[in-house]
Amino acid sequence: MQFGEGGAGTFSDGKLYSQVKDPKQYSRKVLNEFVAAGAPEEILYVSKPHIGTFKLVAMVEKMRAQIIELGGEIRFSSRVDDLHIEDGQITGVTLADGEKLYSKHIAIAIGHSARDTFEMLHNKGVYIEAKPFSVGFRIEHEQSAIDKARFGPNAGNEILGAADYKLVHHCKNGRSVYSFCMCPGGTVVAATSEEHRVVTNGMSQYSRNERNANSAIVVGIDPSDYPGGPLAGIEFQRKLESLAYELGGSNYDAPAQTVGAFLRNETPEKLGTVEPSFKPGIKLTNLADALPDFCIEAIREAIPAFNRKIKGFAFDDALLTGVETRTSAPINIKRDNDSLESINTKGLYPAGEGAGYAGGIMSAAIDGIKIAEAMALSINSKTAL
Ligand SMILES: Cc1cc2nc3c(=O)[nH]c(=O)nc-3n(C[C@H](O)[C@H](O)[C@H](O)COP(=O)(O)OP(=O)(O)OC[C@H]3O[C@@H](n4cnc5c(N)ncnc54)[C@H](O)[C@@H]3O)c2cc1C
Repeated sequence: MQFGEGGAGTFSDGKLYSQVKDPKQYSRKVLNEFVAAGAPEEILYVSKPHIGTFKLVAMVEKMRAQIIELGGEIRFSSRVDDLHIEDGQITGVTLADGEKLYSKHIAIAIGHSARDTFEMLHNKGVYIEAKPFSVGFRIEHEQSAIDKARFGPNAGNEILGAADYKLVHHCKNGRSVYSFCMCPGGTVVAATSEEHRVVTNGMSQYSRNERNANSAIVVGIDPSDYPGGPLAGIEFQRKLESLAYELGGSNYDAPAQTVGAFLRNETPEKLGTVEPSFKPGIKLTNLADALPDFCIEAIREAIPAFNRKIKGFAFDDALLTGVETRTSAPINIKRDNDSLESINTKGLYPAGEGAGYAGGIMSAAIDGIKIAEAMALSINSKTAL
């Protein structure tokens, strides 16, 4: 899911909205480039642009062809395994096959799941801080139920399409619970990148006409919940993902529970009307064991609160599947506010979601443009000297 051509964005829902400040209107450039690569033209004017997985795959291939045409080079299966740093200045990288590449300007846009590379960067002394992120479950309802709650008598109207939602609840225990990456007419997907672990995520096609609506219902956590240094958030994620693997039956099925059973704290005997979309499959269990108590307490309070906003959200047969741990990077590879280089490694430009500077396709693309500009400025100023 997270690696290879197009990164995590390729198998995504392709929602293109973002809440980042964008005074230079880079998002326009991103949308125009996407349309030139084959995205539907409507993304230039609809309020919540969306592309879907099938179209994204072809678009990324087209962008690759353009990069090559412009003189770029793409190396598949070429993991960066080591950095060369001399007196605090980056000078090159070593690839997994031993090949060395030399440059004093290197961007690292490695995504939120490159745990091996995070460890390598930390071991090389690149400054990293632990960062807040969120954990929780995917919730699934029948899309028709969400449409009815959101559109009333107009549910099912072709012009409106599949309804979405965005929810947030501030809990008595001080935590916030919110819906994340809502995928109307989509599927819950398996998104682990490590053996013997289970992770959920969500995606949809352009048509958004699968039977279920899904979203992550997640609780905000911060480094005080996982003390132990810059990489402690990764260990926290791993622990939950291993637990989910065991609760799911240790065969990559995901642990799941109906919402009614979750709220009553009991193991359901059978599924209700909502059919799980997760592949290879799910195992019914009590998800109370899947997350720390404060998270369970918060989600148990939030679901009935969400039900007051979307009638039927707490429907007994709605389904929770776990665990959602890769909501964003658990680290921040700190960079200088002006030069955008790593604060202690000159010439190294941490970029995108893995560095902690983006949280989705649009914000990662905008950050990429900023980094490219910063690198070009630095190269030009050095050439001028
Ligand atoms: C299933 C799913 C659905 C999503 N849905 C949406 C959505 O609808 N809307 C949205 O805005 N966001 C969505 N996201 C999040 C979005 O995909 C990411 O925020 C975005 O892709 C981050 O971009 P990035 O370039 O920073 O990193 P990534 O896209 O993660 O790319 C990182 C790249 O770095 C490569 N890499 C890692 N380590 C190394 C190394 N050592 N050497 C060489 N290469 C390396 C990886 O192979 C990968 O290609 C979704 C994510 C997933 C997994």
